[in-house]
Amino acid sequence: MLGNWIGGHDTPIWLEPSGWRAAGAHAAFSFRLGGVSQGPFASLNAGGHVGDDASAVTANRAKIAAHLSVPVHDIAMAEQVHGSRVALVGEDWLELAPQQRVPFAATDALVTHVRGIALGILTADCVPVLFFDPVQRVVAAAHSGWRGTVEGISSRVVKTMVEVYGCRAQNVRAVLGPAIRRCCYEVDESVAGAFIDRFGRAHATIRPGRPGKFLLDLPSCIRKDLLEAGVSPHHLQDTGVCTACRNDVLFSYRADGGRTGRQLAVVGLRAKRRGGDLSCDQFA
Ligand SMILES: [Zn+2]
Repeated sequence: MLGNWIGGHDTPIWLEPSGWRAAGAHAAFSFRLGGVSQGPFASLNAGGHVGDDASAVTANRAKIAAHLSVPVHDIAMAEQVHGSRVALVGEDWLELAPQQRVPFAATDALVTHVRGIALGILTADCVPVLFFDPVQRVVAAAHSGWRGTVEGISSRVVKTMVEVYGCRAQNVRAVLGPAIRRCCYEVDESVAGAFIDRFGRAHATIRPGRPGKFLLDLPSCIRKDLLEAGVSPHHLQDTGVCTACRNDVLFSYRADGGRTGRQLAVVGLRAKRRGGDLSCDQFA
Protein backbone atom coordinates (compact mmCIF):
# COMPACT_ATOMS: atom_id res chain seq x y z
CA MET A 1 0.00 0.00 0.00
CA LEU A 2 1.47 3.30 -1.04
CA GLY A 3 0.55 6.54 0.60
CA ASN A 4 0.41 10.19 -0.30
CA TRP A 5 -1.61 9.98 -3.52
CA ILE A 6 -2.90 13.46 -2.99
CA GLY A 7 -3.41 16.71 -4.78
CA GLY A 8 -5.76 18.67 -6.95
CA HIS A 9 -5.06 19.68 -10.52
CA ASP A 10 -2.39 22.25 -9.67
CA THR A 11 -1.05 20.45 -6.64
CA PRO A 12 1.99 18.19 -6.76
CA ILE A 13 1.25 14.50 -6.30
CA TRP A 14 3.81 12.18 -4.78
CA LEU A 15 3.92 8.50 -4.11
CA GLU A 16 6.09 7.21 -1.30
CA PRO A 17 6.88 3.59 -0.45
CA SER A 18 5.19 2.74 2.82
CA GLY A 19 7.39 2.06 5.80
CA TRP A 20 10.61 3.43 4.33
CA ARG A 21 10.50 6.82 6.04
CA ALA A 22 10.15 5.26 9.48
CA ALA A 23 12.95 2.81 8.66
CA GLY A 24 15.36 5.59 7.74
CA ALA A 25 15.02 6.40 4.03
CA HIS A 26 13.11 9.10 2.24
CA ALA A 27 11.87 8.22 -1.21
CA ALA A 28 9.28 9.60 -3.58
CA PHE A 29 8.05 9.51 -7.15
CA SER A 30 7.03 12.89 -8.53
CA PHE A 31 4.10 13.30 -10.93
CA ARG A 32 3.57 16.03 -13.54
CA LEU A 33 1.32 18.52 -11.75
CA GLY A 34 2.23 21.59 -9.71
CA GLY A 35 5.32 22.80 -11.60
CA VAL A 36 6.13 25.84 -13.76
CA SER A 37 6.95 24.34 -17.19
CA GLN A 38 4.71 25.10 -20.15
CA GLY A 39 3.43 23.33 -23.28
CA PRO A 40 4.33 19.65 -23.64
CA PHE A 41 6.44 19.89 -20.47
CA ALA A 42 3.59 21.14 -18.27
CA SER A 43 4.20 21.31 -15.60
CA LEU A 44 6.57 19.60 -13.10
CA ASN A 45 9.17 18.51 -15.67
CA ALA A 46 12.47 17.45 -14.06
CA GLY A 47 14.26 16.49 -17.30
CA GLY A 48 16.88 18.97 -18.50
CA HIS A 49 17.54 17.20 -21.80
CA VAL A 50 14.09 17.27 -23.38
CA GLY A 51 13.98 20.81 -24.81
CA ASP A 52 12.28 22.54 -21.90
CA ASP A 53 13.31 25.95 -20.56
CA ALA A 54 16.32 25.38 -18.26
CA SER A 55 15.17 27.83 -15.59
CA ALA A 56 11.80 26.08 -15.39
CA VAL A 57 13.50 22.70 -14.93
CA THR A 58 15.68 24.16 -12.19
CA ALA A 59 12.62 25.53 -10.41
CA ASN A 60 10.79 22.21 -10.73
CA ARG A 61 13.73 20.22 -9.41
CA ALA A 62 14.02 22.60 -6.48
CA LYS A 63 10.35 22.04 -5.71
CA ILE A 64 10.79 18.26 -5.79
CA ALA A 65 13.94 18.45 -3.65
CA ALA A 66 12.18 20.66 -1.12
CA HIS A 67 9.43 18.06 -0.77
CA LEU A 68 12.07 15.63 0.50
CA SER A 69 14.10 18.27 2.38
CA VAL A 70 17.08 17.47 0.14
CA PRO A 71 19.34 20.24 -1.22
CA VAL A 72 18.74 20.13 -4.97
CA HIS A 73 22.47 19.98 -5.79
CA ASP A 74 22.85 16.92 -3.57
CA ILE A 75 20.78 14.74 -5.90
CA ALA A 76 23.18 12.56 -7.91
CA MET A 77 21.93 11.72 -11.41
CA ALA A 78 22.86 9.16 -14.07
CA GLU A 79 23.24 9.75 -17.80
CA GLN A 80 20.67 6.98 -18.46
CA VAL A 81 21.71 5.37 -21.71
CA HIS A 82 19.34 2.36 -21.57
CA GLY A 83 22.14 0.12 -20.38
CA SER A 84 22.72 -1.70 -17.10
CA ARG A 85 25.88 -0.18 -15.60
CA VAL A 86 25.70 0.44 -11.86
CA ALA A 87 27.81 3.27 -10.36
CA LEU A 88 28.75 3.82 -6.72
CA VAL A 89 28.31 7.33 -5.32
CA GLY A 90 30.84 7.88 -2.54
CA GLU A 91 31.67 10.66 -0.13
CA ASP A 92 34.09 12.16 -2.64
CA TRP A 93 31.08 13.15 -4.76
CA LEU A 94 29.92 15.48 -2.00
CA GLU A 95 33.28 17.25 -2.13
CA LEU A 96 32.71 18.27 -5.75
CA ALA A 97 31.39 21.76 -6.46
CA PRO A 98 27.73 21.68 -7.58
CA GLN A 99 28.66 22.54 -11.19
CA GLN A 100 31.06 19.56 -11.26
CA ARG A 101 28.32 17.12 -10.28
CA VAL A 102 27.45 16.01 -13.79
CA PRO A 103 25.36 12.87 -14.35
CA PHE A 104 27.35 9.63 -14.06
CA ALA A 105 28.33 8.77 -17.64
CA ALA A 106 27.02 5.63 -19.36
CA THR A 107 25.17 4.70 -16.17
CA ASP A 108 21.58 3.65 -15.45
CA ALA A 109 21.73 2.84 -11.73
CA LEU A 110 23.29 4.49 -8.68
CA VAL A 111 24.07 3.12 -5.22
CA THR A 112 25.21 4.93 -2.08
CA HIS A 113 25.62 4.43 1.66
CA VAL A 114 26.41 8.11 2.25
CA ARG A 115 23.92 10.21 4.16
CA GLY A 116 23.55 13.60 2.52
CA ILE A 117 23.49 12.18 -1.00
CA ALA A 118 20.18 11.55 -2.75
CA LEU A 119 19.89 9.51 -5.95
CA GLY A 120 17.62 10.59 -8.79
CA ILE A 121 16.24 8.80 -11.84
CA LEU A 122 14.25 10.45 -14.65
CA THR A 123 11.51 8.56 -16.46
CA ALA A 124 8.47 9.00 -18.70
CA ASP A 125 7.38 5.33 -19.28
CA CYS A 126 10.50 3.35 -18.30
CA VAL A 127 10.37 1.90 -14.79
CA PRO A 128 12.08 3.78 -11.96
CA VAL A 129 13.12 1.27 -9.28
CA LEU A 130 14.21 2.44 -5.81
CA PHE A 131 16.06 0.22 -3.30
CA PHE A 132 16.70 0.41 0.42
CA ASP A 133 18.45 -1.87 2.89
CA PRO A 134 17.55 -0.62 6.38
CA VAL A 135 20.08 -2.99 8.00
CA GLN A 136 23.25 -1.93 6.19
CA ARG A 137 21.71 1.44 5.41
CA VAL A 138 22.27 1.50 1.66
CA VAL A 139 20.01 3.01 -1.01
CA ALA A 140 19.93 2.69 -4.80
CA ALA A 141 17.96 3.91 -7.80
CA ALA A 142 17.68 2.31 -11.24
CA HIS A 143 16.27 3.29 -14.63
CA SER A 144 14.82 0.10 -16.08
CA GLY A 145 13.80 0.43 -19.71
CA TRP A 146 13.32 -2.67 -21.79
CA ARG A 147 17.03 -3.12 -22.51
CA GLY A 148 18.01 -2.61 -18.89
CA THR A 149 15.30 -5.02 -17.80
CA VAL A 150 16.50 -7.73 -20.21
CA GLU A 151 20.05 -7.14 -18.93
CA GLY A 152 18.82 -7.51 -15.34
CA ILE A 153 19.66 -4.05 -14.07
CA SER A 154 17.64 -4.55 -10.87
CA SER A 155 19.41 -7.80 -9.97
CA ARG A 156 22.72 -6.12 -10.77
CA VAL A 157 21.86 -3.41 -8.24
CA VAL A 158 21.05 -6.03 -5.59
CA LYS A 159 24.28 -7.89 -6.40
CA THR A 160 26.24 -4.64 -6.00
CA MET A 161 24.56 -3.95 -2.66
CA VAL A 162 25.53 -7.46 -1.50
CA GLU A 163 29.09 -7.56 -2.84
CA VAL A 164 30.18 -3.98 -2.17
CA TYR A 165 28.18 -3.01 0.90
CA GLY A 166 27.68 -6.33 2.66
CA CYS A 167 23.88 -6.26 2.33
CA ARG A 168 21.82 -9.45 2.47
CA ALA A 169 19.45 -9.69 -0.47
CA GLN A 170 16.56 -10.73 1.79
CA ASN A 171 16.86 -7.40 3.63
CA VAL A 172 16.65 -5.28 0.49
CA ARG A 173 13.41 -3.39 -0.10
CA ALA A 174 12.47 -2.40 -3.64
CA VAL A 175 9.66 -0.31 -5.06
CA LEU A 176 8.57 0.09 -8.69
CA GLY A 177 7.35 3.54 -9.63
CA PRO A 178 4.82 4.76 -12.18
CA ALA A 179 5.65 3.29 -15.60
CA ILE A 180 4.00 2.10 -18.79
CA ARG A 181 2.35 -1.23 -18.16
CA ARG A 182 0.96 -4.21 -20.01
CA CYS A 183 -2.27 -2.36 -20.76
CA CYS A 184 -0.37 0.12 -22.96
CA TYR A 185 3.15 -1.13 -23.69
CA GLU A 186 3.13 -2.54 -27.20
CA VAL A 187 6.43 -3.90 -28.55
CA ASP A 188 7.49 -5.63 -31.74
CA GLU A 189 8.47 -9.25 -32.15
CA SER A 190 12.22 -8.71 -31.67
CA VAL A 191 11.73 -7.07 -28.27
CA ALA A 192 9.20 -9.71 -27.25
CA GLY A 193 11.69 -12.37 -28.32
CA ALA A 194 14.41 -10.86 -26.12
CA PHE A 195 12.07 -11.11 -23.12
CA ILE A 196 11.08 -14.68 -23.98
CA ASP A 197 14.78 -15.58 -24.16
CA ARG A 198 15.53 -13.94 -20.81
CA PHE A 199 12.43 -14.65 -18.75
CA GLY A 200 11.12 -17.77 -20.44
CA ARG A 201 8.21 -18.47 -22.75
CA ALA A 202 6.16 -19.81 -19.85
CA HIS A 203 6.37 -16.58 -17.96
CA ALA A 204 3.11 -14.73 -18.42
CA THR A 205 4.64 -11.42 -19.30
CA ILE A 206 3.76 -11.18 -22.96
CA ARG A 207 0.38 -11.53 -24.55
CA PRO A 208 -0.51 -10.89 -28.17
CA GLY A 209 -1.49 -7.37 -29.15
CA ARG A 210 -2.18 -6.35 -32.73
CA PRO A 211 -0.73 -8.53 -35.53
CA GLY A 212 3.09 -8.55 -35.20
CA LYS A 213 2.86 -6.70 -31.90
CA PHE A 214 2.99 -7.85 -28.30
CA LEU A 215 1.95 -6.30 -25.01
CA LEU A 216 4.79 -6.47 -22.55
CA ASP A 217 4.60 -6.40 -18.75
CA LEU A 218 7.86 -4.71 -17.81
CA PRO A 219 7.15 -4.44 -14.03
CA SER A 220 6.36 -8.16 -13.87
CA CYS A 221 9.74 -9.00 -15.45
CA ILE A 222 11.55 -6.68 -13.03
CA ARG A 223 9.74 -8.33 -10.16
CA LYS A 224 10.92 -11.74 -11.40
CA ASP A 225 14.47 -10.42 -11.74
CA LEU A 226 14.38 -9.13 -8.14
CA LEU A 227 12.97 -12.36 -6.75
CA GLU A 228 15.66 -14.35 -8.58
CA ALA A 229 18.24 -12.06 -6.96
CA GLY A 230 16.98 -13.10 -3.52
CA VAL A 231 14.70 -10.19 -2.65
CA SER A 232 11.75 -11.27 -0.51
CA PRO A 233 8.29 -10.87 -2.09
CA HIS A 234 7.29 -9.24 1.21
CA HIS A 235 9.81 -6.47 0.53
CA LEU A 236 8.58 -5.64 -2.97
CA GLN A 237 6.17 -2.78 -3.53
CA ASP A 238 4.68 -1.58 -6.79
CA THR A 239 2.90 1.71 -7.26
CA GLY A 240 0.84 -0.08 -9.90
CA VAL A 241 0.30 3.14 -11.84
CA CYS A 242 0.46 3.24 -15.65
CA THR A 243 1.99 6.43 -17.07
CA ALA A 244 0.06 6.12 -20.33
CA CYS A 245 -3.32 5.42 -18.70
CA ARG A 246 -2.76 8.27 -16.23
CA ASN A 247 -1.27 10.69 -18.72
CA ASP A 248 -3.41 13.36 -17.07
CA VAL A 249 -1.12 13.32 -14.03
CA LEU A 250 2.06 11.68 -15.41
CA PHE A 251 4.43 12.25 -18.31
CA SER A 252 4.27 9.40 -20.81
CA TYR A 253 6.68 9.27 -23.75
CA ARG A 254 4.27 7.11 -25.72
CA ALA A 255 1.00 8.79 -24.80
CA ASP A 256 2.50 12.24 -25.38
CA GLY A 257 3.97 11.30 -28.76
CA GLY A 258 7.62 11.54 -27.72
CA ARG A 259 7.72 15.23 -26.80
CA THR A 260 7.14 15.40 -23.07
CA GLY A 261 8.71 15.93 -19.66
CA ARG A 262 10.17 13.54 -17.11
CA GLN A 263 9.18 12.45 -13.61
CA LEU A 264 11.88 12.30 -10.95
CA ALA A 265 12.25 9.34 -8.61
CA VAL A 266 14.45 10.11 -5.60
CA VAL A 267 15.81 8.08 -2.69
CA GLY A 268 18.23 8.96 0.11
CA LEU A 269 19.13 7.99 3.64
CA ARG A 270 17.52 10.02 6.36
CA ALA A 271 19.76 11.51 8.99
CA LYS A 272 19.92 10.47 12.56
CA ARG A 273 20.00 13.58 14.65
CA ARG A 274 23.43 13.67 16.20
CA GLY A 275 25.19 16.64 17.72
CA GLY A 276 27.73 18.26 15.45
CA ASP A 277 26.98 16.09 12.41
CA LEU A 278 26.18 18.87 9.97
CA SER A 279 25.87 16.72 6.85
CA CYS A 280 23.18 14.69 8.53
CA ASP A 281 21.16 17.80 9.31
CA GLN A 282 20.45 18.14 5.59
CA PHE A 283 18.00 15.28 5.82
CA ALA A 284 16.74 15.89 9.33
ZN1 LIG B 1 -1.92 1.70 -19.34
